[in-house]
Amino acid sequence: MVQPYKNEPATDFTVKENKEAFEDALKRVKEGFGYDVPLIINGEEIMTDDKYTSYNPALKDEALGHISKATTDHIEQAMSAGKEAFKAWRDWTAEDRANLMIRVAALIRRKKHDISALMVYEAGKPWNEADGDTNEAIDFIEYYARSMKDLADGKPVDDREGEHNRYFYQPMGVGVTITPWNFPFAIMAGTTLAPVVAGNTVLLKPAEDTPLVAYELMKILKEAGLPDGVVNFVPGDPKEIGDYMVDHIDTQFITFTGSRPVGVGIYERAAKVHEGQTHLKRVIAEMGGKDGIIVDADADTDLAAEAIVSSAFGFSGQKCSACSRAIVHKDVYDEVLKKSVELTKEIKLGNTIDNTEMGPVINQKQFDKIKGYIEEGKKDGTLEVGGGADDSKGYFIEPTIFSGLKSTDTIMQEEIFGPVVGFTKGDNFDEMLEMANDTDYGLTGAVITNTREHWHKAVKYFDVGNLYLNRGCTAAVVGYHPFGGFKMSGTDQKTGSPDYLLNFLNQKVASEQF
Ligand code: ADP
Repeated sequence: MVQPYKNEPATDFTVKENKEAFEDALKRVKEGFGYDVPLIINGEEIMTDDKYTSYNPALKDEALGHISKATTDHIEQAMSAGKEAFKAWRDWTAEDRANLMIRVAALIRRKKHDISALMVYEAGKPWNEADGDTNEAIDFIEYYARSMKDLADGKPVDDREGEHNRYFYQPMGVGVTITPWNFPFAIMAGTTLAPVVAGNTVLLKPAEDTPLVAYELMKILKEAGLPDGVVNFVPGDPKEIGDYMVDHIDTQFITFTGSRPVGVGIYERAAKVHEGQTHLKRVIAEMGGKDGIIVDADADTDLAAEAIVSSAFGFSGQKCSACSRAIVHKDVYDEVLKKSVELTKEIKLGNTIDNTEMGPVINQKQFDKIKGYIEEGKKDGTLEVGGGADDSKGYFIEPTIFSGLKSTDTIMQEEIFGPVVGFTKGDNFDEMLEMANDTDYGLTGAVITNTREHWHKAVKYFDVGNLYLNRGCTAAVVGYHPFGGFKMSGTDQKTGSPDYLLNFLNQKVASEQF
């Protein structure tokens, strides 16, 4: 009997045994670095001569592993494998597929610290963030397994005199999963295994910066007994294989999480029907945010500062849900700013192997981009704290606050994906709400207020997929806070929601008359 869903608890690293267990995992994982990672197509491990290297962003010359690179020929093989495997996988009962996923979650749980430790090295995650990432993967898998059981028999439709009707769901075929580096285990596992538990097969292309942690999932899937060809692992250069996978006439769906330009490009490409293609592709895209926290005149200013700082600087601001705009009422502006600056000064930045609160950003490209935005911020506003950047050893950028910005300034408009937050002042709630909506994005937002009417107004008019009252705007939990955004944040098919699996299912009606 499967237990009701409950989310995986965070590890308490203030407990000595937990801290020691994690330190052991960090040592254990490090011992193996420098290994080669194969492609996995139809269960077969293929080591290519041409490889790329995954580096530690905190020690940028430390090579962690060397990853085989899929070519378009490999994609073709993986597509064939996926199509072939689909014939049998689709006929597994929903119950059997779901139970296999619950086994996968159990195996992850047993290796939890090793997986999280790998993310400390490969993604520069602080311990608690890495632990949260692994836990969220478990949550996604457990949640979608139950969701599939709920959908197994379809939904009721009416019969008529002399007619029996059924309405139920069928898997679609082979799809492509393109994953990001910022939740390299959770989003990767969730967007891969949701279509799989629904009965589809997948080509998984992990982000270039975090392929090793994706490979851990592949090992676990094998150990759990997932049939060959159901998930095919095709890391590689997106310039070489990205378009090919998206354009392929057998691709039924594409799940993408990443940057806006790439997401938009995939959406456009997938719309084109190629010769021989007999279906329209579905695209599930999550493309980031420009998330704001509104602080009202009567807000608890300690809570507001805490919410802004934790949402802005958790995992160095490299979350789609990170707060990068603080919109604060003029009556409490100075106080909230001062308290936020004080909290920010307490954040310890460094290699997260030492359990620092904040680590590096992911790579040189992001480092340079964020530095550029800091220079922009200096032109438009006042640098209150941070602003420093040092890439001599790893890609470290200080948590940075700018004040005195207009909501239309560049760093208040463009996604930075780094530890930078801008403050702007508002005269009243309506004006602040207007400023909050004045971006192309609509992913998360928060309101810190004690005025119930203002909260009601925000619920109606704050144009974001995930809105929170009197807390930060990050840390959505699977099952409680389905996650996805409006506007240019993506296609809003919320992950961790009761509807998510429907993206990977066709709806069928069987009507019989007697
Ligand atoms: P970021 O800039 O944050 O790394 P990207 O959007 O470039 O975000 O990357 C997100 C994912 O999309 C990665 O797995 C990456 O390899 C993949 N990707 C990048 N370009 C393409 C493309 N043209 N087609 C398909 N996938 C792509």
